[in-house]
Amino acid sequence: MATYKNIVVPEGEKIVVNGGKLETPDRPIIGFIEGDGIGPDIWKASKFLFEEAVQHCYGGKRKIAWMEIYAGEKGNEITGSYLPEETLDAIRDYELAIKGPLTTPIGGGFRSLNVSLRQLLDLFACVRPIRHFDSVPSPVCNPHHVNMTIFRENTEDVYSGLELEANSPEAKKLAAFCKAEFGWNIREGSGLGLKPVSREGTRRIVRAALNHAVKHGSKSVTLVHKGNIMKFTEGAFMQWGYELVREEFSEVAVSWEDCKGDPGDKILVKDTIADIFLQQILTRPTDFDVVATMNLNGDYFSDALAAQVGGIGIAPGANINFETGVAIFEATHGTAPKYTNQDKVNPSSLVLSGAMMFEHMGWQEVSDTLVEAMTQTFHNKTVTYDFARLMDDATLLKCSEFAQAVADNMKACQPA
Ligand code: NAP
Repeated sequence: MATYKNIVVPEGEKIVVNGGKLETPDRPIIGFIEGDGIGPDIWKASKFLFEEAVQHCYGGKRKIAWMEIYAGEKGNEITGSYLPEETLDAIRDYELAIKGPLTTPIGGGFRSLNVSLRQLLDLFACVRPIRHFDSVPSPVCNPHHVNMTIFRENTEDVYSGLELEANSPEAKKLAAFCKAEFGWNIREGSGLGLKPVSREGTRRIVRAALNHAVKHGSKSVTLVHKGNIMKFTEGAFMQWGYELVREEFSEVAVSWEDCKGDPGDKILVKDTIADIFLQQILTRPTDFDVVATMNLNGDYFSDALAAQVGGIGIAPGANINFETGVAIFEATHGTAPKYTNQDKVNPSSLVLSGAMMFEHMGWQEVSDTLVEAMTQTFHNKTVTYDFARLMDDATLLKCSEFAQAVADNMKACQPA
């Protein structure tokens, strides 16, 4: 059993990965980071619901052994670091963790704590399922037409690129190099940015998207890029993606070019330019099923799509390395500091991220129970302030009251 300085390991068993598959014991140890700002409120509500759902499905035969791990402001208070090394070790050791939102310390040496967690643990796939729940307010006419899963590459692109400030000695040096080596005249006073996109990084995210499509019987996988302008980064992403389809998935999937748009019973792999994709998700969202894209595009798309189905207060997410099995499930919104300790905000993003976690663990019944009970709760219009202000005749609930309403609705769900 691993020992740590500040983390107390509860009684339970490790989840292990065997041949790329998770083996979940009946009392798995799972790490949690409650998060900053509204984090403690939404974590309390979510943990309560996770325990209720597990009890509902397995009646005490299975139980989570929660292990608190530290990051963000609480991490700094307890360990003197916003992202302690032992937090990374504990996530690697125990495979899965779930987290609330984290404040990125200004001047703390991090571009973002979340980005650092993803990169240091090589959690290369950010997985964001986007679907609409009946009655949830939406700004579009047919929100139920949106049902897709975004696979956003998490470790490359501008997020692991280099940025140099205008007029800095480094920017001047790079500009001089570009002029000397490539004859490229960069306007004086320019800030500079470099972004890497690799064949290996592309292949593993597209592979993860295709495996998901196969598992879920999806009709299509769309590679979204801006390759018409950035040919050797985003255009290469598309080409490497198609190459992977031909090399590894030809039995189950076919590219648009190879089948002229008629894939038969195979998964159709197609591509779309990023700007037109943002139009098409509004005008014909049913054309998209699974989407694979690069880091920055994925950031924009997942929030734009979340807005179509009710906003970031309800959008779940996971960061997964499908090769090592290590994964962090997380609320996709921030710390909303003005609502700290008010027991006010919507915990749905974290609860639904937990539903993703239970599915990933193989506890599908728990995932289904959470989703079914949430669906009923939205349908009853018993909601937190963010939805109540957009609904007619809603009953306004606090964060903890909403969790209780979901728990009450679980009773009507079929146990496993
Ligand atoms: P934010 O915390 O996501 O909040 C923006 C607005 O979104 C809130 O004012 C609120 O809208 C709404 N909102 C967010 N979470 C909600 C919830 N659970 N229920 C209902 N409404 C919710 O974004 P921010 O203010 O730009 O960022 C604040 C801090 O969070 C920053 O330090 C940032 O670095 C950090 N952050 C962390 C993560 C992460 O950990 N994954 C992600 C993004 C940002 P109304 O004001 O309309 O009620």
